[in-house]
Amino acid sequence: MKHDSYDLVVIGTGFASSFFLKKYLSKAAASAKVLVLERGHLYPHQERLKEKRGEETPYAKLNVPYEDSYINNNPEKHWKFQPAFGGSSNCWYGCTPRFLPSDFKMKSLYGVANDWPVQYDELEDYYTEAEETMSISGPADETPFPRKGPYPQPPHEFTTVDKVLKQKYGKLYINQPTARSRVQVNGRGICCGSAVCHTCPVDAKFTIENSGIGVYEDSRVELITGAPVLHLDLQQDKVKAVHFQKDGRDQKVSGEVVALGTNAMFNANILLNSGDSNKFTGKYLGEQYGLQTMVYLDGQANVGGSTWVNANGYMLYDGDHRREYAACLMESSNYPYFRLERGKWRNIISFRMIFEDLPQERNYVATTADVLKPAVHFKGISEYASKAVEKMKENLPGILSCLPVEKIEHEPPFDTEAHILGTARMSNSASDGVVDKHLIHHQYRNLFVLGGSSFTTFTPANPTLTISALSLYAADQSF
Ligand SMILES: Cc1cc2nc3c(=O)[nH]c(=O)nc-3n(C[C@H](O)[C@H](O)[C@H](O)COP(=O)(O)OP(=O)(O)OC[C@H]3O[C@@H](n4cnc5c(N)ncnc54)[C@H](O)[C@@H]3O)c2cc1C
Ligand code: SF4
Repeated sequence: MKHDSYDLVVIGTGFASSFFLKKYLSKAAASAKVLVLERGHLYPHQERLKEKRGEETPYAKLNVPYEDSYINNNPEKHWKFQPAFGGSSNCWYGCTPRFLPSDFKMKSLYGVANDWPVQYDELEDYYTEAEETMSISGPADETPFPRKGPYPQPPHEFTTVDKVLKQKYGKLYINQPTARSRVQVNGRGICCGSAVCHTCPVDAKFTIENSGIGVYEDSRVELITGAPVLHLDLQQDKVKAVHFQKDGRDQKVSGEVVALGTNAMFNANILLNSGDSNKFTGKYLGEQYGLQTMVYLDGQANVGGSTWVNANGYMLYDGDHRREYAACLMESSNYPYFRLERGKWRNIISFRMIFEDLPQERNYVATTADVLKPAVHFKGISEYASKAVEKMKENLPGILSCLPVEKIEHEPPFDTEAHILGTARMSNSASDGVVDKHLIHHQYRNLFVLGGSSFTTFTPANPTLTISALSLYAADQSF
């Protein structure tokens, strides 16, 4: 560490921290001093590919396996992430729809949960900036959410069945906005739909490593990897110091401003280990709920498409039903499904049906005797979400009646959607949440708590584009 004190100390190197840093550096003085503390290490993409090919790589054992980094009190529910440089950008799948304006006003429109203090219009420019940074491929025509301009990359191709649904549903059925490249950019290859996106063989999806945003190469930034943060010194209305480990030694550093971006599980753990007494800290953990639906078709082949998820369907998403049950986002999956029946091999389409859930107090993160290892208590999804699953099963045959459907089969729910949300939710005041609309802690006014922990509600849309836009917004509005 070059200094004892910095203008900004950032914790974590995932989307939340990196997008915050990008905006901060664009506004900060040439003399600014920034320290970044990252628990994990860089595991380069080329080395990850070696591991996938079954070859030896010294990097494979460098980072803690995610399963060993928390205690899971519900074996039926999983939470996935990567404690490494770049966080879960290394293993995400790159689905990047925006939220709808209504997602931010669930209370005022539908009388459930809470409204977000920040609204779609305030985030719109930051959505655009995040999409440009990730070079998102998206639809060239109208979308269910307002947009001021075109997507940076052209859309991926629909399959033959997607085309029928597009014809019927117009702007409610769109090419999926995605960080899986349609054209080459920044050394990223063209997505070819191989559907092994966890470690993309052609590096087509955006990652922090291939992002080219240059924040960790900036001369104002000092990055220390292998440096897990243990807790913060919280005094009255400020963070006074950040405590971390490096090479087995406890160290501390102070920052004029501190930005915590370690995901919703570890943000909560660090805040709780620091003595944050906000009654919502750690509470209202959650995410979406999903299942796979297989639709067998009579005499209609489903072929084509140019990526892993080609399309998003919004037919079950927004509307007055959200007073009673959850929205559902459909993902048309281009994983190579086959029917083992002569002449019908490709007469099948598969949808991932993703449901929103309501934040519940009974789902939470708590500390344990091991300061780096939180315990996760997840008792289950809300009735609001489970009712939506039943309604979807009732309504889907009607929605797909423009197709020659032979039969529909719903698979059991997934044990995770790989999103971690809630635990430090955004609210207008400390009586209702942990951070304000700029992601600044209601009590500790030099502390940003970034990422999905700030989500007030859990809309069905994948969260990471919004996490990134919120970080840009927070840094832009606050400096
Ligand atoms: C398999 C998979 C597929 C996914 N696909 C999609 C998708 O298609 N679309 C989508 O929107 N989202 C997807 N996600 C979710 C997405 O990856 C997350 O929403 C996103 O990565 C969250 O970003 P973050 O920066 O908040 O947290 P993370 O990416 O989890 O980054 C947190 C960072 O903090 C570091 N850290 C943790 N604890 C400490 C500590 N104590 N001290 C210092 N550093 C620490 C970590 O090492 C990491 O670098 C997927 C996730 C997974 C696992
Ligand atoms: S579908 Fe294949 S090429 Fe496209 S991002 Fe995923 S792994 Fe990469």
